[in-house]
Amino acid sequence: MMETKLAAARPRYTVPYARVGSVLDESDVEAVRELLLSGATLSAGPVRERFEEEFAALIGVRHALSVTSGTVALELAIRLLDLEPGDEVITTPQTYQATIQPLLDHDVRVRFADVDPATANIDPRRVAELITPRTRAIVLVHYGGLPADMDALMRLARAHDLIVVEDAAHALGSVVNGRRPGALGHIGCFSFHTSKNITTLGEGGMITTDRDDWAERLRRVRGNESDMVLTDRHGGFAGASGPPTGALYPGVAYTHDCHSFRRSGTNAAMSEAAAAMGLVQLGKLPGLVARRQAVAARLTAELAEFEAVRLPVVPAGVEHAQHLYTFSVDSERVDRDELVRCLHAEGVETYLRYFPLHLLPEWRARGHGLGDCPAAERAWFQEHMNLPCGPWLTDDQVELLATAVNRALVKATRD
Ligand SMILES: *Cc1c(COP(=O)(O)O)cnc(C)c1O
Repeated sequence: MMETKLAAARPRYTVPYARVGSVLDESDVEAVRELLLSGATLSAGPVRERFEEEFAALIGVRHALSVTSGTVALELAIRLLDLEPGDEVITTPQTYQATIQPLLDHDVRVRFADVDPATANIDPRRVAELITPRTRAIVLVHYGGLPADMDALMRLARAHDLIVVEDAAHALGSVVNGRRPGALGHIGCFSFHTSKNITTLGEGGMITTDRDDWAERLRRVRGNESDMVLTDRHGGFAGASGPPTGALYPGVAYTHDCHSFRRSGTNAAMSEAAAAMGLVQLGKLPGLVARRQAVAARLTAELAEFEAVRLPVVPAGVEHAQHLYTFSVDSERVDRDELVRCLHAEGVETYLRYFPLHLLPEWRARGHGLGDCPAAERAWFQEHMNLPCGPWLTDDQVELLATAVNRALVKATRD
């Protein structure tokens, strides 16, 4: 029934680009229903705690802290870096803008390291060239779910004492040599937006880390407390520990408000209902990823006939969650824009991911511009194609898609 309504809402395309990325069924509905009828709290509670425990266990980290979105996860992660004016952060131009948006609020220099054209992931060689004594952090994405070259990046991070933030919004379900994105750097950020590999009622996010002090700070900040240490909050009263703050106000006994905030907290608590769905979705993750991989394998088989196509790279030892399906064309031989038009004419909806971030107005205003990252620019303007790839596609739609891609490539090839 839900299927029919969704299909009616998108009449233009026989193969839509995205829907609910995770595909919902009765088990999701039942989990939320059970919670609503239980009379238990709908705000933060035991369900959220279980979701976080299971998530941490899956990723292989000491701490997983849920929040209200992937964007908030990134905001809070970047806040942990305690960036000072003049500090530098190295990042990728090939990601969704939320990866680096929080940096706009800090007086820091952002350096864009170009991507490896074979993977669209940040190229460690370009990162190495940009490191200076002021570099504090690397903020990267695992593009489309394909893990970035973390061995090389973590070697650089160790050598130069840098913090590595992984935007793992695409990479839930990916594995590299037995380890998972979100546990490869120092902080991992996940999104449970409706389009992502799993969802928590449409919006949600998670931060992963092994560091106890960061986890403690995050727990306070997301719960409306400052990220300052509050040991002397009630210091003026008998029985409290820490130095007596009453001394600051001689003769005044009332000292409740004597603590000071270095920064504000926020309320980024994931609701129990969202976490209840998250738990169900986490159980379905292997099946959802397998379906994404099956669609990807079918598309790769179709594309393999075309010499002017560069097939997606999946290195040995990598399990690719296939949040995106991306391939490149040889732009001398294939008109990429014509390919997009032909696919749309065939009823296939496509989006290109992503516009090179350094060319967005806010980053151009900070001195970045065309030519800074040639590989990312070529990808967007001439070479990259993204095809629909998700568990919402039926077998029939996958076959329609493969046939349409074949026909469109024949039309868009120049020779
Ligand atoms: C979706 C996404 C985000 C933001 O997540 P939201 O939950 O939508 O706020 C951040 N980075 C990347 C790469 C994403 O794809």
